[in-house]
Amino acid sequence: MRAVLIIAAFLLLFTSSIGAKAAEADPYQERMKLYKKVETITQIPWYYLAAVDQYERNVRLSRRDLPKPESLIGIYFRPEQWAGLTNPNPSEENPAIIQFFNGVGVDGDGDGNASLKNDEDVLYSFAHYLLSYGVDEDNIKIGLWDYYHRDRTVGSIVSYAKIYRHFGRLNLDSNVFPVPLRSNHSYRSTWGDARGWGGRRIHEGTDIFAGYGVPVRATGYGIVEMKGWNKFGGWRIGIRDINNTYHYFAHLSGFAKDLQVGQIVKPGMVIGGVGSSGYGPPGTSGKFPPHLHYGMYKDNGITEWSFDPYPYLAKWKRIERMNVRKK
Ligand SMILES: [Zn+2]
Repeated sequence: MRAVLIIAAFLLLFTSSIGAKAAEADPYQERMKLYKKVETITQIPWYYLAAVDQYERNVRLSRRDLPKPESLIGIYFRPEQWAGLTNPNPSEENPAIIQFFNGVGVDGDGDGNASLKNDEDVLYSFAHYLLSYGVDEDNIKIGLWDYYHRDRTVGSIVSYAKIYRHFGRLNLDSNVFPVPLRSNHSYRSTWGDARGWGGRRIHEGTDIFAGYGVPVRATGYGIVEMKGWNKFGGWRIGIRDINNTYHYFAHLSGFAKDLQVGQIVKPGMVIGGVGSSGYGPPGTSGKFPPHLHYGMYKDNGITEWSFDPYPYLAKWKRIERMNVRKK
């Protein structure tokens, strides 16, 4: 089991490095142009289009049974879904024939073809599908549910739309270390250890030891998905980011004032304090030294699994330190 998880973590690192390379061309502006253009035509808000696109891109980056995203738009249609299941030609690009076979492919850029290789056609085709439900949040949600048949997926896409709408931009990729760099803290790689505090079957996270009450910060852009007590994790917070990653903060001394489920956070925002809560009924504390248990979980559209936060923590710390020096 452990070997499988280690391989999965390795693959994840590998695929995310490919993603980083693809992003070097700074595609955010080009993507935004396409979202806004399709919004103008369909009245579907750009942030829903951005959310679906981002979700699908994430899924493709974390799955081996799907082709990696190669162009600006990450939405994936199977050829037979595009051309129509009963269409004898799965690479059909004639919009009228595709329509006849009930395929999803539509001509978005007006060049006469509905092409899977054309970003605008692909984005417009998804918008065209949603448009058959409506352009308000409730109807978009129904459309998403009929398309994906999965609560986690619909929840993530709706959350991403809220995040994009809130910030009004697509570039939301920066991260920080979960406790202030200047605080006294220590951590080492313990992911996968048989014993730990706040883990499940194995230790699903990294323990960052620090003084009681040291501020705990959101590590990236995201939305608070969970806040509350759990027998093992104590007071804890779960934050979902736009990369299909769930960040889990446990054993907190308490929560930041006014922090709510559904609240949008950005890197560095204080969400709670380091504590030693857990291992008993609500309020139990002090059964182990104060530390932050930090876990990361990846959703690939089918299942969600834990991976080792340690390399990310080390990277974020390094980058944050560099940025502090620059200032
Ligand atoms: Zn832990």
